[in-house]
Amino acid sequence: MENYSILAYLISGIFFILALRGLSSPETARRGNIYGITGMIIAVITTLLLPGIESYGLIALGILVGGVIGTSIALKIEMTALPQLIAAFHSLVGLAAVMVAGAAFHNPSAYGIGDSGSIPIASLIEMSLGSSIGAITFSGSIIAFGKLQGVMSGNPITFKFQHFLNAVLGITLIFITVLFCLEQTQNLFWGLTLLAFIIGFLIIIPIGAADMPVVVSMLNSYSGWAACGIGFTLSNNLLIITGALVGSSGAILSYVMCKGMNRSFISVILGGFGGDDVSATASKEVEQRPVKSGDSNDAAFMMQNAESVIIVPGYGMAVAQAQHALKEMCDILKKKDVNVRYAIHPVAGRMPGHMNVLLAEANVPYDEVLELDEINRDFASTDVVFVIGANDITNPAAKTDPQSPIYGMPILEVENAKSVLFSKRSLGAGYAGVENELFFRDNTMMLFGDAKEMCESIINALGK
Ligand code: NDP
Repeated sequence: MENYSILAYLISGIFFILALRGLSSPETARRGNIYGITGMIIAVITTLLLPGIESYGLIALGILVGGVIGTSIALKIEMTALPQLIAAFHSLVGLAAVMVAGAAFHNPSAYGIGDSGSIPIASLIEMSLGSSIGAITFSGSIIAFGKLQGVMSGNPITFKFQHFLNAVLGITLIFITVLFCLEQTQNLFWGLTLLAFIIGFLIIIPIGAADMPVVVSMLNSYSGWAACGIGFTLSNNLLIITGALVGSSGAILSYVMCKGMNRSFISVILGGFGGDDVSATASKEVEQRPVKSGDSNDAAFMMQNAESVIIVPGYGMAVAQAQHALKEMCDILKKKDVNVRYAIHPVAGRMPGHMNVLLAEANVPYDEVLELDEINRDFASTDVVFVIGANDITNPAAKTDPQSPIYGMPILEVENAKSVLFSKRSLGAGYAGVENELFFRDNTMMLFGDAKEMCESIINALGK
């Protein structure tokens, strides 16, 4: 069976690689999911058939309890709350890594790594890596969850000598790990795990809520490396492969997100932007300035008389769940011979691919959905841009104001179009908490109200 299991694990590893490849585009994402599920089924069945399983009953109970909790959360969760759900789930991956490392340390013979007090050095290193990365992932993910869910303030929490303290704790962790590998005592094992829990907490609190999705992706990467470390302890090839896949894909995703926001990874880690206070100030300032506002009839008139319309969706579309109404509106415009396309910013919404997923859900044809690089030049030759629930990703301050926290982020240059319609509820700021000068421009018309209701009302005004 052992030989067959190596082959079966290899096959499921290949399925996981195909899954990642499939998930890289909305067109192939469903297939990618099916590959992932197939790989996981093969992995679970193979593991259950391995010799040495002591209680199928306990395993079945674990699958039942975990499966019921996971399914009920997945059915209820709003799309906009996915980042915090992912953070919460990662915390469990981290905790699992700590527990497996703890179990292996307390009963090494059950894991085939010698006896207590004479565990080989390589296994001790794997164990301490798995446990400390797992503990950092656990406490870091809990803080990320708290900030994204609004359980705690999204503002960066900073104090004097913070980086110095983190550096000292990091060096102490390395020191205790070396001692643990030499002495193999319980106190040192749990000491290093506790210290890693504290470090996870301390490195995430100074990061602002706006950078939190990058952090979630980074913690995803950590959880993969923790699983990889544990795979070595358990001599489980599949866990090593899967952990490395999660670890590297999470790291690549963090890099892509940072690139989309034009922020260096280090600057994200050393303290982000975005928080309630900034947002409140920005909103107060903008409320007092006059803007041109219109209603659904104005929007319908402008769009049906345009030759070309570009739709720019953002986080507010996700909140309002306006994608189906938006698609219906665009279909009517297309029937009226208007050229309609969608422009997607790489960090629109709250997670990578957020807008692509929502538009795919509404069956928007993929060839109408264009990335920033593909469409940015076309705004200048476009009659109307319909910005639906987007804000930061259109804000020219990213190009013009070096003091702005979003300075340097590439934006969709909607201001170059003849007219810009903004569908949002107020003049309130976006996630980065900064004022958007575009609302006050002559070629802008604000369409105040919920994005879905606005689309439905425009559909009525267009007449089906
Ligand atoms: P923003 O957060 O900038 O703006 C969203 C706007 O939606 C708000 O100004 C809000 O205005 C409006 N809104 C909220 N609810 C509704 C509703 N029901 N109907 C209509 N409008 C609504 O979103 P963007 O997508 O423009 O930008 C994404 C932001 O998230 C960027 O700052 C980006 O850096 C950040 N980010 C994104 C990541 C990603 O991976 N996608 C990762 C990390 C950060 P109002 O309250 O007036 O309605």
